[in-house]
Amino acid sequence: MEFKTLRKMDAHLHFNVPNEYVLRLAQNNNFQLITVNVDFPEFGTVSQQLTIARELYLKAGEQLRFIASFSMVNWLEADWTERTIASIREALYQGAIGVKIWKNIGMTVRDAQGDLIGIDDSRLDPVFNFLERENIPLMMHQAEPKNCWLPLEEMTMRYDREFFTAHPQQHMYLFPDMPSYESLIAARDRRLKKHSNLVTIQAHLGSMEWDVDVVAQFLQSFPKAYVDTAARINHLMYQARADWEKVRDFFIRYQDRILYATDYFITSPDDMKLAHGLEKQWLMEWRFLHAKEEMSTPEFEGSFYGLGLPENVLQKIYYKNALRAFPKLAQPLGALN
Ligand SMILES: [Zn+2]
Repeated sequence: MEFKTLRKMDAHLHFNVPNEYVLRLAQNNNFQLITVNVDFPEFGTVSQQLTIARELYLKAGEQLRFIASFSMVNWLEADWTERTIASIREALYQGAIGVKIWKNIGMTVRDAQGDLIGIDDSRLDPVFNFLERENIPLMMHQAEPKNCWLPLEEMTMRYDREFFTAHPQQHMYLFPDMPSYESLIAARDRRLKKHSNLVTIQAHLGSMEWDVDVVAQFLQSFPKAYVDTAARINHLMYQARADWEKVRDFFIRYQDRILYATDYFITSPDDMKLAHGLEKQWLMEWRFLHAKEEMSTPEFEGSFYGLGLPENVLQKIYYKNALRAFPKLAQPLGALN
């Protein structure tokens, strides 16, 4: 099976600005894209992000779809719930295929007493109930890679060591008073237990990237959940170095529950370098998933083998699972809502 002929979806990347090169690259490589809006000020306000996503969608059509988000600023105001639900309805009407909820809930958003609120906070129930009732897929990014709670020398990835060296204020190991990794994951699971009909796509392997057995257990417990691979394939490579069969078996067993995604950031317009970087990531990850060759990565020492996944499994993780997770993907332009 050839990379170019397989129909593919990159189910999680971020167009913070339009970039023609990336759109053309996707087209040439038989990729559709899902750009994800996030309640993260560095990406611009949620409504600015929605405007950009909507414009790209109108221009690129089914080549590019988007996931909307909502802002937690003013979340303590009396009409926040009502306004948030209205804004989600509006974004869906404009073509959004789902909603994204971010790690700021759990790690930075505070209540009137100054306490951090958890994703399972009952004050968020009406929004979750709405999403569940209306069958709106929810992409969730909770917590961080487990490395964030480990000392630098125990981190498995070079990227994480460099990032947390440069950004010590985000290195949770240094902040024992902040919520633990385990408590954030437990809060996520408590939230999901309350919404057995809510379809969720757990970004970044649900922050359980460090052990596919833990991801498997999670998928077993929550039948409506999917995971995406965004920015975490290296962690699967790391596990394949130690136990290739375990990682391969995980993909075979959960072939209906995994979505391929990169988490690539498109931060400048008309920059061809960004398109090249994305293409490089696509090809490297394709090689790992598709071929059975010996490989290595700058992220850690040693080598590992590609998983050599069967064609029908690749078709699912690269495309078909995204269609199941986000039913609105199947609705063509002009058939909004
Ligand atoms: Zn992302």
